[in-house]
Amino acid sequence: MTEINVILDHVAESCTARGKQLTTKRKLVLKALLHADKALSAYDLVDYCKEHFEETIQAMTVYRVLDFLENEHFAHKLKVSNKYIMCSHILCDHDHGTPQFFICSKCDKITEQTIAPIIMTGLQSQAKQKGFTVTQPQLEISGVCDECVN
Ligand SMILES: [Zn+2]
Ligand SMILES: [Zn+2]
Ligand SMILES: [Zn+2]
Repeated sequence: MTEINVILDHVAESCTARGKQLTTKRKLVLKALLHADKALSAYDLVDYCKEHFEETIQAMTVYRVLDFLENEHFAHKLKVSNKYIMCSHILCDHDHGTPQFFICSKCDKITEQTIAPIIMTGLQSQAKQKGFTVTQPQLEISGVCDECVN
């Protein structure tokens, strides 16, 4: 994994380029997500910051920061578990697309992948035929990773 400071610098630059700011609190929460390298809830993040960085941050602030990180595609919210993870494309500048997540039910390892546009198109048109409009196409798929399967 790329060094945390390299990622934080990159994110700070991306923020500036977009006319936004990686404030101290935003940086703290992102650092915690990078450091933990797994999905954490807002309350997990409050504890994590205290435990690992001796920083006190309110849950409300964490939620606001997570909204920001999600909107800027630096992090993702897993809707099923209500936890957040760093975007695996955090260092990329290309178009992000719709993510899908493979979640190992044994070790909680999460792999992020972009859904192929053709699959998305198929899904959307199938939904349309059923009189349904997809507004949130992110997929969260449970399974077992190769390491846990043995
Ligand atoms: Zn992503
Ligand atoms: Zn990428
Ligand atoms: Zn596993």
